[in-house]
Amino acid sequence: VENKDQIETIAEGVKSSGATMLRGGAYKPRTSPYSFQGLRSKGIELLSETRNKTGLPIVTEIMSADKIDEFIENVDIIQVGARNMQNFELLKVLGQTKKPILLKRGLANKIEEWLMSAEYIMAEGNPNVILCERGIRTFETMTRNTLDLSVIPLVKRLSHLPIVIDPSHATGHRELVESMTLAAIAAGADGLIIEVHNNPEKALCDGEQSLHPSEFADLMKVKNNKLGKDIKIEIYTPKEKLEYKVFSSYVIEPEDYAIKSNIVTEDAMESYIKTMLDRSTILYNIVPSKLDRVITLSTCDNTGNNRILVHGVYIGGEKYEE
Ligand code: PEP
Ligand code: MN
Repeated sequence: VENKDQIETIAEGVKSSGATMLRGGAYKPRTSPYSFQGLRSKGIELLSETRNKTGLPIVTEIMSADKIDEFIENVDIIQVGARNMQNFELLKVLGQTKKPILLKRGLANKIEEWLMSAEYIMAEGNPNVILCERGIRTFETMTRNTLDLSVIPLVKRLSHLPIVIDPSHATGHRELVESMTLAAIAAGADGLIIEVHNNPEKALCDGEQSLHPSEFADLMKVKNNKLGKDIKIEIYTPKEKLEYKVFSSYVIEPEDYAIKSNIVTEDAMESYIKTMLDRSTILYNIVPSKLDRVITLSTCDNTGNNRILVHGVYIGGEKYEE
């Protein structure tokens, strides 16, 4: 978390591509005391405001037990970083809460030690532990860490706890994130943490491994394609069938612009369309030209409770000339 604009842009970007939670660092364990240390309390405040704005639950790292009240009040999932996996006093304090705890595997810890750390939390009465593999230190230096995907089937045999994979910290290189994400899904991971930054070259921390929101959107599309969930919309006109590939969709909140504006006047309609197009450009790097047919539909999800906006681009053939 660097500033309000940055965290909000990223949160909105990843949300519209399908992310379900927002993880950002406020208290950051850096190898050097001269590196960016995080915004600390201010960072928690920004995450919390972003949750209120986007509805995404927030996940962030705790480094010491003296901050426990701040975390209980503001954070949805508390992360224990790799460097604190065996900070037993911290684990015991977290065990006395009911918050879900994301327990990262230590840099050089064996699976048994990791599961014992989970026991420290559960033995105090908190059963809500999520394991996270983020790569371990080996002799290899071409990757930041070595991603141990064999822990997924192994942990599934040894424990009932969910396990998520962090391919960003594991590899340290954004080019490797997509393959490792797909591999983790294939191996049975329950979730993924993927680092995203709106300007990775300028990131104060871990830019090398961060995806741009548009790359995250692409990754989600690849994932959905590979998993057979490529979504298309077909529109039938009296003359032809038009096929659109969906490139974004999001749930409209009751206070959202689309509902508030009520689209009754031509002006409101025009400014609404502009908002949608800006969103496509900011979030997806798609700049529709006058020759492209772009649709925006309002529909509802299969529960019938949520209104969803869907954007799509025409893939059915020739470009359309007015
Ligand atoms: C992080 O999640 O930003 C982090 C510091 O990760 P790890 O503890 O896995 O190094
Ligand atoms: Mn990081």
